[in-house]
Amino acid sequence: MDCLFCKIIAGEIPSRKVYEDETVLAFHDIAPQTPVHVIVIPKQHISCAAEINEDNSAVVAHIFEVIAKVAKELGLENGYRIINNCGEDGGQTVKHLHFHILGGKKLSEGLVK
Ligand code: 5GP
Ligand code: ZN
Repeated sequence: MDCLFCKIIAGEIPSRKVYEDETVLAFHDIAPQTPVHVIVIPKQHISCAAEINEDNSAVVAHIFEVIAKVAKELGLENGYRIINNCGEDGGQTVKHLHFHILGGKKLSEGLVK
C-alpha cells in the first residue's frame, strides 16, 4: 500500500520517534506548526476518523492514553491541542488516521482560522 505513515511504521522512511509500542507510534512532524508538534498514529492502517468502528476503536482509546503520556514527557503541562483532520473538507493530507499534538506556546482560542 502506498501510504506514507505505513512506510514510517515499517522504517522505510525515517522519523524522529517519541513513543512506540505494539499498536501505536508517535513521532515529530516534519514541518512543525508549533514549538512542539507530534503525530500519533495507529500501526494498523485506518484511513481516517470516518473509518473508526467497533472493531478498531480500541486503538483510538489507547492513542489518547499515549497522547497524555507523551504530552507530559514533552513538557506540555500547561496544555496542548489535539487535532484530527478527516477527509478532503477536513484538510487531511496523509490518508492514515493520525492525531496532531500541538503545544509549547499559548495557542489561539479559535478552532479554525
Ligand atoms: P494532515 O494534514 O493530514 O492532518 O497532516 C499530515 C502531517 O504529516 C502534516 O503536518 C505534515 O507536515 C506531516 N508529514 C508529511 N510528510 C511527513 C514525513 O515524511 N515525516 C513526518 N514526520 N511528517 C510528515
Ligand atoms: Zn497507512
